[in-house]
This record gives sequence, structure tokens and C-alpha cells, in this order.
Amino acid sequence: MRRIYLDNNASTPVLPEVLEAMRPYLGEHFGNASSIHHHGQETRAAVERARDSVASLLGCGPAEIVFTSGGTESDNLAVAGLASAGDHVVTSSIEHHAVLHSCNHLEEAGCEITYLPVDGRGLVDPDDVRRALRPHTKLISVMMANNETGVLQPVDEIGKIAEEAEIYFHVDAVQAAAKVPIDLKRMACDALSISGHKMHAPQGVGALYVRKGTHLQPLFYGGRHERSRRAGTENVPGIVALGKAAELAIQGFEGGDDKKMAVLRDRLEQGILARAGEAGVNGEGAPRVPNTTNIYFDYIEGEAMVISLDLKGLAVSTGAACSSGAIEPSHVLIAMGLPAGRARSSIRFSLGKRNTAADIDFALALVPEAVARLRELSPTHKR
Ligand code: PLP
Repeated sequence: MRRIYLDNNASTPVLPEVLEAMRPYLGEHFGNASSIHHHGQETRAAVERARDSVASLLGCGPAEIVFTSGGTESDNLAVAGLASAGDHVVTSSIEHHAVLHSCNHLEEAGCEITYLPVDGRGLVDPDDVRRALRPHTKLISVMMANNETGVLQPVDEIGKIAEEAEIYFHVDAVQAAAKVPIDLKRMACDALSISGHKMHAPQGVGALYVRKGTHLQPLFYGGRHERSRRAGTENVPGIVALGKAAELAIQGFEGGDDKKMAVLRDRLEQGILARAGEAGVNGEGAPRVPNTTNIYFDYIEGEAMVISLDLKGLAVSTGAACSSGAIEPSHVLIAMGLPAGRARSSIRFSLGKRNTAADIDFALALVPEAVARLRELSPTHKR
């Protein structure tokens, strides 16, 4: 059966060039990057090359990159590493659970947390950030792109507010990196998270940018890896893969891949809206990353739609893939003011570098038909 994958915000396929780059580090180049002999020097050099590539993608210095096990660890390290008991933290209600649950944990440990609302488009208002600040505010953590809607937050403006108030600013850029350019020379932020498997490197590797001079409390204790910011023997194959994925992302921006992806996404979105009826885009009117569209289809259950499309060979998702299995409506869509039924009827389509125009045609042939079939079964839909 032909299978088309439009769930790249959950995880992306490893690109062949990335696999080729990492392969020797699963085989002949196996040394511990801390060893002083030839084998260690070889892997150390590879880790440092990858650090340079990730730093180039983000526009920062290589020494400001800390390799981690992925987006969740990067977010935890930033939140727990920059705030502690007695501090006040400002975050948003649409963050990924890696940030929200880290904040919940800090709250239990004696931190005060403000969870900011978003408007109907899913945007945080920078003025709300400003108004939330208190004398003991230590950290602001707001994501760059939302994983469910793709909506881009005003992180430049929020960064300026944080800078003026001399408060740490962490940005979860897991769903933004490699999709939109990031320039840390311009953006006033102290920490920024990325994850390998959202940008065509494997699962289980990520990075946290930590601005030079920022005091970060580590999560792990052990060796002095990553300049004592993240103890643990480096995941050399994963890090090499992340470096290669960063290089490919830079080339992609140079070649206009992001613009081409937006064209495909827009064709998918408009085609679905034109054919499905009683549907709309969650996050409409807000700036978005080029690969994501989140669409509600009134009178259907999103879960039923995902299963129905999967049976025909199309992979999409409802809500956050990281919490798949949960039947609660998405906290992001609820925060945007969607009624629970509409939130439950929403489907996320997310493209990756390997998707083609033919994949979009495939989806356009399946989705309106599946929506019509499910509505026929719906007791609430008027025919
Ligand atoms: N932050 C965002 C915005 C995400 O979308 C995800 C994963 O979906 C994460 C953090 C967690 O990243 P990882 O899966 O690498 O732990």
C-alpha cells in the first residue's frame, strides 16, 4: 500500500545524507570523545565539527551549544537550570509539556509561575508578558513555533522586554529550527532548545543554546562534559547527525526550500478547505512555520479521522503527538478558545523535506472523502 507521511511535527525521517554522515560513528569510529588516544580524538573532532554546524544554523558561537538527548531535556535544562525556589517564572499556556510540566515541577518546589493566555489566533501578547513581570521574575519561557498549529510567537519583541528587565529568556525552538531562519545574533535570548528528530536527524539528540556568561544549573552530575553543563558521554552518532541536519537546513534556506514548502502546505490547506466545508484553520491570520496546518472539521472526531486516513495510507495526527493516546482535547486549541468539540475535530498536517506535490495530491484525494464519510455517521451533523 502507498503510504504518505504528513506527521513531521511528531518526528521526521532521517535524511539519507544524515544517515551516511553518522554511519561511520556507529561502526569504525567508536571512541569516547573524552579519550586522549586516536579513537577519542577522532570522535572529539566530529563532535566539534557538528557543534560548529549547529552554531552556524543558529547564529551563535560553538561554545554556546550544549548537546542533549533531545527537546525535552533541553527544555528541562533551561527551565530548571535558570530558575529555582523563590523565583517567579513567566510562560505561556500553549507551551509543550516539556516546558509546562517543568514549570509545574518548579511550582511544587516553591516557584511562582504565571501561565499567559493566547488570543484566538494562538498568539501571546508581548504586553501581557510585560504586565506579568514582578521584582523577583527570573525567567520568561515562550516557544518560537507551536507544535500543533505552527503559529510563530513574537519572540523578538518578548526578547527585548526580557533584555530591558534583565530577566532570562528561554525559547523552545524545537518546531522552528530548520523551518524558519533563527539568528541569535539578533534575537535577545539566553537559552534556546532544538531537537534532532524534528529536523531530519534521529530521535534522542538535541541541543540547548546557552548564551555566553549565563549561569546554568546542570540537571545531571557526573563528568565535565559539555563544559560542565551536561554530564554524560556524548552521543557521537546522534551529534554528528544533528550537525549534518543543520548543514542541510542551511543549504535548504539558501535554496528557498522553506518557500517551496509553504507553497505545498498552502495548496493542501486551500484544497481541503474548498472541498471539505464546515472546516477552518486553527491559527488563521497568525504568522506560521511553512510546514504546518491545523484544520478543524466540524461534526467529526479527530481520532476517527486519523484512523480512517491511516487505513488508506495517510499519516496525520490530532493534538500533540508527544501525548498521543490521551483523549483530552488539545490544551493548545482550548487555550485559543476553541470549544472542546471543535478542538477534538482538529487534525494536524505537517510536511517534511521529503514530501512532494504528489503527496499533497494523495492527501487531497483522501481527506474530503473521509470527512464526508465520517459526517454521514455523525448523529449531530444535519444532512
Ligand atoms: N518542544 C516542542 C515544541 C515539541 O514539539 C517537542 C516534541 O514534540 C518537544 C519540545 C520535545 O522534544 P523531544 O521529542 O526531542 O523530546
